[in-house]
Amino acid sequence: MRKKIVAGNWKMNTLPAEGVELAKGVVAGRGEVCSCVNFIVCPPFTHLAMVAEALKGSDVALGAQNCAAEAKGAYTGEVAASMIAALGCKYVILGHSERRQYYGETSATLNKKMEQAYANNLTPIYCVGENLEEREAGKHFDVVKAQIEEVVYNLTEEQFRNLVIAYEPVWAIGTGKTATADQAQEIHAYIRKVLADKFGAAAAECPILYGGSCKPSNAAEIFAKEDVDGGLIGGAALKAEDFLAIGKGFAK
Ligand code: PEP
Repeated sequence: MRKKIVAGNWKMNTLPAEGVELAKGVVAGRGEVCSCVNFIVCPPFTHLAMVAEALKGSDVALGAQNCAAEAKGAYTGEVAASMIAALGCKYVILGHSERRQYYGETSATLNKKMEQAYANNLTPIYCVGENLEEREAGKHFDVVKAQIEEVVYNLTEEQFRNLVIAYEPVWAIGTGKTATADQAQEIHAYIRKVLADKFGAAAAECPILYGGSCKPSNAAEIFAKEDVDGGLIGGAALKAEDFLAIGKGFAK
């Protein structure tokens, strides 16, 4: 049985006090959703300590949206994996398309970030996905394969067993366009095959989340697909009610 996960990527939204309210709302309503669903919230770095406090005593986990590629030192403005782990993070989102696109994150950087995450007992939520041009050219399979081969293939089997993948087609992120449930299933199954080519049977245990304009109205149909194990949620994670309603989308 693979883990069912609904993770919220708050991006650069909310002031700290608003983030605490949002986290409290998730904790308060969490009991209405099956305990089989693992909720994760990923606020901005500045909110982590306060949100950790708000989540205390609940099973809602804390994640960060990024971490530094280096362990510590003279890297002005960076935040080390050890620092976010010390604040209570269990997860870290790595390789989000916005980081790849706006901050030039390459596979070389991501390999170092993955290493830092594992060295600090964090579970990476590693994002892959093609842009619109690549999808239209039919290159989406090759794009996600390369993103996996260049980073995930460098993991040990033990590390791989502690990894979450998020498939996020860039053309669906924040655009209101969603991959159809069939499109999601097709590429999730492909991703699982690429993982199995390297890690064998362990690939069957790896949670693969869908991300891209996932909301309460479409989550159930997407999550019903065999190889979709939940969602990485952007916009809809900013309202506790919507975020929790997405978790109710699991019927299996
Ligand atoms: C995301 O960026 O991780 C995301 C899925 O965003 P949205 O849900 O807003 O499309």
